[in-house]
Amino acid sequence: MGVGIFVDAEETWIQDPIDEMVLQMMEKYNKEKVTVYNTYQLYCLNKLDHLKRDHKRCLQKGVLFGAKLVRGAYMEKERNRAEEKGYPSPIHPDKAATDRDYNEAVKYCVEHYETISSCCASHNADSNMLQVSEMNKKGIDRDHPNINFCQLYGMSDNITFNLAHAGYNAAKYVVYGPIKDVVPYLIRRTQENSSVTGEMSRELSMVDKELKRRGL
Ligand SMILES: Cc1cc2nc3c(=O)[nH]c(=O)nc-3n(C[C@H](O)[C@H](O)[C@H](O)COP(=O)(O)OP(=O)(O)OC[C@H]3O[C@@H](n4cnc5c(N)ncnc54)[C@H](O)[C@@H]3O)c2cc1C
Repeated sequence: MGVGIFVDAEETWIQDPIDEMVLQMMEKYNKEKVTVYNTYQLYCLNKLDHLKRDHKRCLQKGVLFGAKLVRGAYMEKERNRAEEKGYPSPIHPDKAATDRDYNEAVKYCVEHYETISSCCASHNADSNMLQVSEMNKKGIDRDHPNINFCQLYGMSDNITFNLAHAGYNAAKYVVYGPIKDVVPYLIRRTQENSSVTGEMSRELSMVDKELKRRGL
């Protein structure tokens, strides 16, 4: 049906075969337009290189490349496992390094938008703004099908709604399924993922500011 399929990225120790399978699917389905997208976790030391490597592979095979860009959700789990098993952590040592690679990846995808369809899947306002300004610099239409934005449903609506209102391709990622599976999943995300709690505090401070502005 031509509807895009975004394959999530998981823990590094199971990711290589997922990457290979998704690339093979790109070679099969991304001939005319991008239907299959892989996910790149830029908190990994090697993901910016993998992004460029996989783009080149698609170019060599004469197909289009699909990339969803995320920072990565399993930072604590990755670091704990590396320590337990005694190998070097595959994750950047600090947030600034992750941000640098994430923003480089955004720039790379916009730069090559004719052969890459990408999605900035982030709640980080600076990264979303960077994608907007890179598009402006190159004079790319706001609704160009190869450049997308996405935030989780119920989070960062200020970013999604303003992007959509301004005419950009902005989407919400909706977790769905039976209540018995979805609710425990959401609770785990809130408990385990310090990035979610970080985001919540950012949103909470905006609500707080708005309440003060309204004198409530
Ligand atoms: C639409 C959508 C789809 C997603 N799909 C996936 C997926 O398939 N796989 C996946 O793993 N995640 C996925 N995520 C989650 C994503 O990886 C991030 O965990 C989450 O979005 C927070 O990052 P941010 O860019 O929004 O915001 P920010 O608050 O700017 O960044 C927080 C992130 O920065 C990184 N970070 C924080 N502190 C440090 C540190 N000390 N050192 C190094 N890095 C640090 C971590 O990755 C952390 O999650 C998805 C998110 C969205 C919005």
